[in-house]
Amino acid sequence: MTAQTQGTGVYFDGVSGAPQSVTVTLEHSALAIASPAGALARWDYPAIDALPAPADRLRLGLAGNRSTARIELRDPAFAAAIKQHVGFDSPQRRAGERRRRRLVVAWSAAGVAAMMAIGVTGMPLVAELLAPLIPYAMEIRLGEDTHRAVLAAFDEPGPWECGDEGPMERAGKAAFLKLIRRVEAEAHLPIPIRPFLVRTSEDNAFAGPGGFVYVNNAFILNSGSAEELAGVIGHELGHVVFRHSLKRYLHNLGMAYLVTMIVGDVVTGGGTLFATGTVLNTRYSRANETEADLFGVGLIARLGADIHATARMWDRRAAAEKQELGGFRATSVDSTHPDSAARAAAIRALPNVANPQPILTAEEWQALRQACSRK
Ligand SMILES: [Zn+2]
Repeated sequence: MTAQTQGTGVYFDGVSGAPQSVTVTLEHSALAIASPAGALARWDYPAIDALPAPADRLRLGLAGNRSTARIELRDPAFAAAIKQHVGFDSPQRRAGERRRRRLVVAWSAAGVAAMMAIGVTGMPLVAELLAPLIPYAMEIRLGEDTHRAVLAAFDEPGPWECGDEGPMERAGKAAFLKLIRRVEAEAHLPIPIRPFLVRTSEDNAFAGPGGFVYVNNAFILNSGSAEELAGVIGHELGHVVFRHSLKRYLHNLGMAYLVTMIVGDVVTGGGTLFATGTVLNTRYSRANETEADLFGVGLIARLGADIHATARMWDRRAAAEKQELGGFRATSVDSTHPDSAARAAAIRALPNVANPQPILTAEEWQALRQACSRK
């Protein structure tokens, strides 16, 4: 018995949407589609794909989305003849299918990789370009959001802020504010600083967006002098003036947006929340740290104080980090950095001011160290 080589079908040209009754002929190397008015299309067998269809019909299209044209055949005998002729079940066909699927997966993976590359290498640049367009009022609102997150994370016996529990605390807070205001006066910042002296055993100091500066009690107790502390405060003001925290927020927000584009709606609505949260938990880049270091040292120099004091602090931290090598590192300045020794060396390489003057009196420095004494 000879296989059927001609039958009827319904053709959609993929443009008009209107079905056409057609005659379909199995030629030597191609499927010929013709209407009573004349030839409509010739599809080479290797280019033909079977499309998903109800069980009562065979639906064919062109592979690789070159066209949305399709044809439907309802005669089971003719459909079987076409399947055999086109060779849908042949090993070559199946290998081709697998190859196409692998290609699609590879291109998708390449697309995701490209997006991630933009995220990793391009996003800091985007954040740099975007930051100047953000008004300070908006950065301050972001700082207030971050501040609420800082307060929510606090879980030590309060009150959270030092300075109001007795006369010694009040004297300590006054000395703290004097130190901050002296350094701030030299910084000529576009926004005022909102300093907080935090009652916590966590050895840290950091700057959030919008001029929020946090200095922890443990950090003050671990500082050897008012000048060491002033150097770190100057460093934090460097983060404020260069808007490092805002840039980090924009970077993280961009990453959240990218992730949303790649994986879908997983973080929809949570993007800004994610970015705010990560502002407190991700590190500044080394370039940002160096920029802030130099800015801080410049402030101390303009105050006529000992700029090398900050180097002594980094030396001590480098020694502590060496001891804790491989283990839990309890000491850190805003974001833990492994290159304390290098930072100390960079600062010590700068010429010190001649005849440096103290930033606080000895009494003020002692008072400052009692700012969280609860007395
Ligand atoms: Zn820093």
